[in-house]
Amino acid sequence: MELRDWQKQLKDKVINAVKEGFLVALNSPTGSGKTLFSLLIGLNTKGRVIFVVRTHNEYFPVYRDVKKIDPSLKFSFVIGKPSACPFATKDVDTEDINCKYCEIKNAIEVKIDKSPFEKLKELKENAIKEGFCPYYSLLESAKEADIITITYPYFFIEKYLSLLDINLEEYFIVIDEAHNIDRVSEIEERTLSEFILSMAIKQSKSEEVRRILDRLIKELKTLTYQDEKYIKLDKVPELSDEELSLLVDEYEELRKEAIKSKSVSRIYLGSVIRFYATYSTGNFIPFSFSNKIVLKTLELNQYYNLLNDENLSILLMSGTLPPKEYLEKVLGISRKILYIDVEKEVKKKVTGSYQCKIAIDVTSKYDLRSEAMWKKYSSYLLKIYYQARNHVLAVFPSYQIMEKVMSYVNVNKILENEGTRIDDVIKIVKESRQKYIIAGVGRGKITEGVEITDNDRSLISDVVLVGVPYPPEDDYMKLLSKKISEKLGGKEKEYLIMIPALITVKQAIGRSIRNINDTALVWLLDKRYDSLWWKKNLNCFNSTKIRL
Ligand code: SF4
Repeated sequence: MELRDWQKQLKDKVINAVKEGFLVALNSPTGSGKTLFSLLIGLNTKGRVIFVVRTHNEYFPVYRDVKKIDPSLKFSFVIGKPSACPFATKDVDTEDINCKYCEIKNAIEVKIDKSPFEKLKELKENAIKEGFCPYYSLLESAKEADIITITYPYFFIEKYLSLLDINLEEYFIVIDEAHNIDRVSEIEERTLSEFILSMAIKQSKSEEVRRILDRLIKELKTLTYQDEKYIKLDKVPELSDEELSLLVDEYEELRKEAIKSKSVSRIYLGSVIRFYATYSTGNFIPFSFSNKIVLKTLELNQYYNLLNDENLSILLMSGTLPPKEYLEKVLGISRKILYIDVEKEVKKKVTGSYQCKIAIDVTSKYDLRSEAMWKKYSSYLLKIYYQARNHVLAVFPSYQIMEKVMSYVNVNKILENEGTRIDDVIKIVKESRQKYIIAGVGRGKITEGVEITDNDRSLISDVVLVGVPYPPEDDYMKLLSKKISEKLGGKEKEYLIMIPALITVKQAIGRSIRNINDTALVWLLDKRYDSLWWKKNLNCFNSTKIRL
């Protein structure tokens, strides 16, 4: 197998660093071949690899590259119960599935002889008639594999990691899309909303339980605000121990009934119970966000303990990895890090290119927001759409701004919402064969995951940043900033606001560059991009300034 130049140049350096106990951080653009590179490093150091990815969609490239390296390597993947259980619908929570009463709770040995998606489909089709459980079978088979592919919870969250029952020291651990690891705490966040409570009322059989839930809705409404930012709350709707135990009894009944009827869909009462269980740990603070209550934690270091374990061989990689100081100061990684920016290291571009245009007559700055500004943005979008040679990806700082601006844009469009599924977006765009504006929010599902390609080339020709996607300086941000301010040495704004926004912008741009031959136009629609910091970090010194 022929390696690319950068892979040949850096292979020994990375292998030596791993052997010397460094945590390696690899910043290399999408489409540059880092999956294959990291697998080779792992096989050359530990011989076995755990590949940690964000979503199941990312299992396939790992499988494909393992087969390229050596078809005889044993590949495996682990998938949570909601996707693996043949009785479950996808929206269930793991806890809703009560395996205790399941008749097919047997594990068989699974050989992955086709793509993970096809294999899972086959396992689910055969599970009931052959009497085995796909979830437990995949979990068991992983123990014997050379390469195990898992999602973030199975590495960062202790209760899931322990299910793997393996010794991490025997593996080389690759954490892919590692720019996301500052968000792993979100896996354990819990939400209470009117929707969840109303659905729980519909599903509950007990009059008493319905009465309790109804009261919770009323209290929730008095506590929350509609703003799309985190506003700290001093309390959550009250629930006594007796009331909680009534909810738990009802939930257990519903779980039992669901598995006995061999059809498990989401049991909303479970979400209510888990919200209160999380709140009672004392590690989470309630915030209002868009009329909901979200429990968030400031104790972020607990998620990164494993990264600091010097007995573990770890590679963090991404096309938009934050700088080394960010890994040290914000994530608290204290072990020695070898940080490699591939393009800087080999002094050469290893993927496609883009050209920037900066609009200097618009901004999403809070005090300059107005209907006139949204109309101006919509005019820009229409202009860009009509000149684009292919699809346009538009990224907004918030859902509210997206809805306002896009209400004036009447062309083929897809707007992200909380229920958006990436696969559906890709299907619509690919099947229609017409040009689309795909609109999403910063660090949302679309900017992080949409991959519209044909023959490995991106079908997104234009990326539009509508405003700067700074995270809001809300109560959560202020509390976090206060908590880690000592480590940040006065650079709170850069670490908590600027760098996250930069990662969002780079991620969005990355959607249009999937291959060394891809080229794209990047429209930075905010005068604040016309600064040295942005131009330097986006490598946009040759940008053109534009006006409507
Ligand atoms: S098949 Fe049975 S044992 Fe397996 S996850 Fe579903 S309920 Fe649990």
